[in-house]
Amino acid sequence: MAENHKNLKRVQAYGILVLVEAFIANLLAVIVLMQRSWILAAGYLLVCLIGGGSIIYAYCAKCPCRDGQCAHVIPGKIASILTHRETSPYTLFEIAVVGIAVLLIYGLPLLWLWGYPIVLVSFVLLMALASFQAQTVLCRNCSNIYCPLRRGVS
Ligand code: SF4
Repeated sequence: MAENHKNLKRVQAYGILVLVEAFIANLLAVIVLMQRSWILAAGYLLVCLIGGGSIIYAYCAKCPCRDGQCAHVIPGKIASILTHRETSPYTLFEIAVVGIAVLLIYGLPLLWLWGYPIVLVSFVLLMALASFQAQTVLCRNCSNIYCPLRRGVS
């Protein structure tokens, strides 16, 4: 029991680190975009907000880990407090919503970071590091039996 708790805390520390890395990548993208246009930067922030909310509603709200077992801590808490969805397998539509949201949040910045090689490399490295840690640590310790990303994870 104590061992399980210790492992959960270790996984959650990684989960928070992954969120921080993704946040820094987003922040870099917003800072660069602000230099071009405040309106575009505000638009991208809105995309992040709506995309993040969609992921929490379509995915985290149905996740069996959301109550206290969430690897990223914060999305699970938000889903528990703000939504009351039943835990059940994801529909194709929900998976598509999550895929599109992730694509927009992390794909859109590539359009304007091309002119800023150092920021572009930092953005890609941060996202690659976050994905690697998520796949190697978080997915392996996650008990969301409905998540398609867990397939093939031992
Ligand atoms: S573990 Fe569950 S609640 Fe936490 S971020 Fe992943 S899908 Fe959302």
